[in-house]
Amino acid sequence: MHCALRVLRVSPSRAILPVMVSTITLSSAHRVQIEAEARAAFPKECCGLLEGVRDGNVVRVIAVHPACNLSEDADRFEIDPAIQFALMRALRDTEREILGCYHSHPNGKAEPSPRDREGAGEEGFVWLIAGVAADVTLRAFAYCGGEFIPLVLSERRAASGRSPG
Ligand SMILES: [Zn+2]
Repeated sequence: MHCALRVLRVSPSRAILPVMVSTITLSSAHRVQIEAEARAAFPKECCGLLEGVRDGNVVRVIAVHPACNLSEDADRFEIDPAIQFALMRALRDTEREILGCYHSHPNGKAEPSPRDREGAGEEGFVWLIAGVAADVTLRAFAYCGGEFIPLVLSERRAASGRSPG
């Protein structure tokens, strides 16, 4: 038996975390998708939302939802609220939720920018940042207590029915 998830929903846009998030897992397909979006958006920023579940101190990405970047500036992002509200409605009464967001940094730095710090606010929200250089570097953070806490990023192998060899 799995333990029940203990995420307390205060409102659709806020959740209280029972424990500190330390690890994010996503599939290789999710990583490839985000890297491709980051490259396609260059020199602007791509952005989107991460859907998944919280299980103790692990957040597990189940789906990646690209969003229009409404920002006109190259060095910032603004997720289309319509995407966010539609996803919140779709996930209501499920065990899944919006874990956080992702976006790219065309300057190659996979770390929160001063503008990200200004825009952050939701406790426990996960920020996945793709630094675009020769390669795309992915790093994830959880916004906790006014700080971005680095998370361990763990890639799951695709759960296909194929067996190697
Ligand atoms: Zn940023």
